[in-house]
Amino acid sequence: MFNLFSTQTNQATIGETNVTVKVQFSKYSASWFNSDFQLATQINSKKGKGFKLPEESNLKFRQVQRYEIFYRKFYHKRIQQQIKTPFNPDYDEFKRFCATVLSQRIFYILKTALPQLITGRKELIINLYAVNKYLENDLAAYVYSNSTDKAIEMEFSGSALTGRIYFLWVYAHKVDASFLERTLTHELEHHLEHRKGMYLKEEETLKNIAEFMQLNPEAWKGSFPALFEVWCNLYAEGLATFVENRKANQVEIDFKQVQKLKLGLIKLSLLNKKSDAEKLVEKEFRSTAESGEYYLGRLMCYFIGLSFLKQKKTEVLVLSQGKLKLPFTELGLFLEKHSSVKLEQLNEETFKEAYAKLSQIKHHREFIALYTKACQELGLKDSLRIVDTKFYHKLLNNAAGSYKHCREVVMG
Ligand SMILES: [Zn+2]
Repeated sequence: MFNLFSTQTNQATIGETNVTVKVQFSKYSASWFNSDFQLATQINSKKGKGFKLPEESNLKFRQVQRYEIFYRKFYHKRIQQQIKTPFNPDYDEFKRFCATVLSQRIFYILKTALPQLITGRKELIINLYAVNKYLENDLAAYVYSNSTDKAIEMEFSGSALTGRIYFLWVYAHKVDASFLERTLTHELEHHLEHRKGMYLKEEETLKNIAEFMQLNPEAWKGSFPALFEVWCNLYAEGLATFVENRKANQVEIDFKQVQKLKLGLIKLSLLNKKSDAEKLVEKEFRSTAESGEYYLGRLMCYFIGLSFLKQKKTEVLVLSQGKLKLPFTELGLFLEKHSSVKLEQLNEETFKEAYAKLSQIKHHREFIALYTKACQELGLKDSLRIVDTKFYHKLLNNAAGSYKHCREVVMG
């Protein structure tokens, strides 16, 4: 049933475009909100030195993410002081407040990070649903099947809105704008990929793969569809995570983690059973949005950005190992010696150049090729590379043998 009060609408004119953000709460009930608020209170009031989650609540990491506020000590202190005063959470106020801050952040992102979503358009509608159900991997999700050229649909975890937005506002009068901005930018970036037709193409190819495998059960390993999805995600999730994190102060690169994931990909490519492949991906690649293809793809984008930086500067700033300016010509050797490093974030100009190039990509093979070129320009040896053309072919060969038929089925 349509409930007028469950939808909060905010509008703004940005450039030539009328943008309407409709935040809908019909899928996030008052009773769910109340129990989330109680849980947030429980978690945040006990937060302090040596705090452990109450075992009886059986909370998993995912759930904690929705309620725990990743903020500076200062907020914690304020919450500890204020939380002693009993507070009656107000569902209507929650809806108004969250709809306002979500809309403001979206307007801001459209003005700054992703103006291509509105350029040349008279109107854009964004339907954002606060949802009760737990979103498996993310705090938010882009619903591409319901998104069109004029309207974008997204879901946002209602628990996260309660625990990380409204709760912080009530007790510390703060809005975690950076959390909202990162999460929303990530999902909005997916809309650009959808507009390029990438998701439809991916679906179509997966269908072709399934048909081919049914007709030729012995030709390819059962892992092939899962592997194909990982390749698609390397670009789609990698780029979204790259954009999402563009304001981070530094970029941490953990080559041990990269190696572990690469070995995971090799293992995956050799699995015969489809169900085993799906299990492996679920276990080793989807544990958090910061691991798996998200992480690998984001780093690949970063190295592509670094190759752009190299055209302008002779040195890159290392923020670990005692901070130093490293000539680009020594980067390869340096990375071979140190398995964990922190490098400078790309400056805005370089980020924009790299992003412009990355946005033009329409297939993950182009992405892998661009990354390979960047590695060559940066002088990175095979062992330092993530998924370059050589490694991609190795995986392809593992899963599809001589992959004679691949060209027609997968490559179009
Ligand atoms: Zn995503």
